[in-house]
Amino acid sequence: AANRVINFGAGPSALPLPVLQEASQAILNFQNTGIGIAEISHRSKEFTACIQDVEQQIRTQLQVPPTHEVLFLAGGGTAQFAGAVLNMLARSWLLNPEKQERTLDYVLTGSWSVAAKKEADRLVVGPSGTGVRVNVVVDGREGSVDGKSFESIPGREKWKFSEDSDLIYYCENETVSGTQFGFEDVPAVEGQEPVGEESALAKEKTTFPFELLPEGKLWPLVGDYSSSFMSRPIPRLADHAIIYAGVQKNLGPAGVTIVIVRHDCIVDVDAAAKLGAIPVPACLSYKAFKDGKNTPNTPSVFSIYVCGLVLKRNAELGGIGYYLELNRRKKEKVYKVVKEGEAKRVLRLKVKEASGSWMNVVFTVLGEGAEARFLEGADERGMKGLKGHRSVGGIRVSLYNAVTEEEVDKLVAYIREFIQEEQ
Ligand code: PMP
Repeated sequence: AANRVINFGAGPSALPLPVLQEASQAILNFQNTGIGIAEISHRSKEFTACIQDVEQQIRTQLQVPPTHEVLFLAGGGTAQFAGAVLNMLARSWLLNPEKQERTLDYVLTGSWSVAAKKEADRLVVGPSGTGVRVNVVVDGREGSVDGKSFESIPGREKWKFSEDSDLIYYCENETVSGTQFGFEDVPAVEGQEPVGEESALAKEKTTFPFELLPEGKLWPLVGDYSSSFMSRPIPRLADHAIIYAGVQKNLGPAGVTIVIVRHDCIVDVDAAAKLGAIPVPACLSYKAFKDGKNTPNTPSVFSIYVCGLVLKRNAELGGIGYYLELNRRKKEKVYKVVKEGEAKRVLRLKVKEASGSWMNVVFTVLGEGAEARFLEGADERGMKGLKGHRSVGGIRVSLYNAVTEEEVDKLVAYIREFIQEEQ
């Protein structure tokens, strides 16, 4: 492990060293079965216990209410761009086969929400998509300096939800654009342990404008949590129809997508298709996964196992509250130094700080050849994965759970040194 570098990559990304060490043993021999974790049957009693434990850990750490199921699918966030649309449309058809117009509402705050909307556009072109309209609630690019970038989460006055939509999609953290919904939590009063509704998790607020959603309805709200899952509590989780996340940022190796679904959104997709809804492949049917106890087909056994190790470690460290505070400190340190660089005209934040992601901090290094110098210096110091996404360039610092505060301190020290040299 001595030759490992500091990995600020955006995903797949760093995993905790103790987890990797334990997993490397399990590759050879899983729980004394004499069979490695990559070789064992997904129907063995050992793995069945493992997947049940992973589900339970997620339920406990995120306080998932009994109204929701925790499912393990494959195909990453990308498959859920389709999965959410198809299952929610099937639900709509079953609720009202005669409905004249069905609407899918998209909140665009970065390139991943744009990609999700594009998938919806693809799915509704045929006869069974007739009458389905894909609508934009708000587009974060409007009002940006160049009209093309996502610089902030748009103000509430710009949002326009449809009257009776069948899906409302938003991406909680935009991994490429670096925008994220704000998270405000009420600090606990010292010496007073909050209880019930007043508990720490019930109290947090988000800048997602829940108050604009229609009252008295089960919201068809879909949150893409791919790059912020498990990094802090999920505000108003119970009010979501679906929350999904590929695990490869904060939780484990790529290959499994956690889908938290409200029970009314787990529907008989075949009955819906008979009424005219778009047919749903079995590998995307939430009902197939619920009925098949998460193993209707072969899941990514290894990935799920490693997620379990990470979750066990999280619990030992203090659960989601621990990561909330750790990640808050990490991002504050990075934004602070980038702002110092801004004041000296060496760096420039790409996103307004109030909308700035805790997980992916994106900025530009100003000046001829300066970005290359920055990356080279980082590389020499054993810090990798800092190059921005190929579509937008610049620098991206990903601060997922496994990136330690000490590692962040090293990066911050380097950035400060770089600013000194460049100014
Ligand atoms: N949504 C978000 C926010 C993402 O960051 C990503 C991938 N990084 C995706 C969706 C697509 O996920 P996948 O690559 O797992 O299909």
